[in-house]
Amino acid sequence: MSRRAEQYAATVIAQERLSAHLVRLHLGDLDGFVSTGILDEWVGLVVPGQFQSRYYTVREHTADSLTIDVVVHDVGLVTEWASRDCVGEQVTISEPRGAFAPPADSTWLHLVGDLTAAPAIARITEHTDLPTRIWLETDDELPGYLPDGADVTWIRPPAPGTSALAAVVEGLEWPSGPGYFWMGGESAQMRAIRKHLMREVRLPGERYHVMGYWRGVAARQPRAVDPGPIWRAGKAAGKSDEEIWADYDRARES
Ligand SMILES: Cc1cc2nc3c(=O)[nH]c(=O)nc-3n(C[C@H](O)[C@H](O)[C@H](O)COP(=O)(O)OP(=O)(O)OC[C@H]3O[C@@H](n4cnc5c(N)ncnc54)[C@H](O)[C@@H]3O)c2cc1C
Repeated sequence: MSRRAEQYAATVIAQERLSAHLVRLHLGDLDGFVSTGILDEWVGLVVPGQFQSRYYTVREHTADSLTIDVVVHDVGLVTEWASRDCVGEQVTISEPRGAFAPPADSTWLHLVGDLTAAPAIARITEHTDLPTRIWLETDDELPGYLPDGADVTWIRPPAPGTSALAAVVEGLEWPSGPGYFWMGGESAQMRAIRKHLMREVRLPGERYHVMGYWRGVAARQPRAVDPGPIWRAGKAAGKSDEEIWADYDRARES
């Protein structure tokens, strides 16, 4: 694998259909790629013939390969590429970044998301020692995708390509004691949930991470914006989590 200013060229070495909407890609020739070790880490992916990137969670990383699980929805740049045979093709991936950071005194973990968050939820669940509850919104059957014994509530989306996770989170009962809430999914749902966590649940900022992974309502897809630099710049400027995520939403919509 060659390395160019925080970007890696990699080859698709295998492709598997995991479910109706999930395609697993194994990327090889990975010399020099270093995982952050953060359980929800993601990379930017540029597929052949394109210059725009889309973000994908590192589902698994070994010395020889990196695995990503791609949701194939109605229409989309990566969707269309990953829906056909792409074994042997070369892609570019960016340096990984991650955000999952439960404080050391956490006694519980709640993970919520739609199918795009399933890779992160699976990886987190495999590696955490915290008592974990999961709410996963998907129409797909995913036998064996999450570890055996995972405490998961499966939720059907209201319609294909839509999400109603905000209402699910608004109905949750919260455990007593310190814990951590992690969530990824459709951006409008995520914005509503951040407000709910801050205003109603009053979770301190270090007790949750809620991230818009895609946007379902607008015809125009928001710009792919790496949240890492916005997060670091916001922290350096002393901004609150609410202000930083508002900056992220604005950057994606500009
Ligand atoms: C940190 C991070 C991690 C992510 N991890 C993953 C991951 O592991 N697996 C994964 O599949 N996605 C993941 N995503 C989401 C993924 O980047 C977006 O869904 C992306 O837009 C898909 O690209 P595309 O080229 O297929 O569609 P695009 O060309 O970006 O979009 C085309 C159209 O499809 C719609 N659309 C986009 N995504 C979806 C969707 N999921 N369902 C229904 N409609 C959609 C858009 O609104 C747009 O109208 C992640 C996003 C972030 C920010």
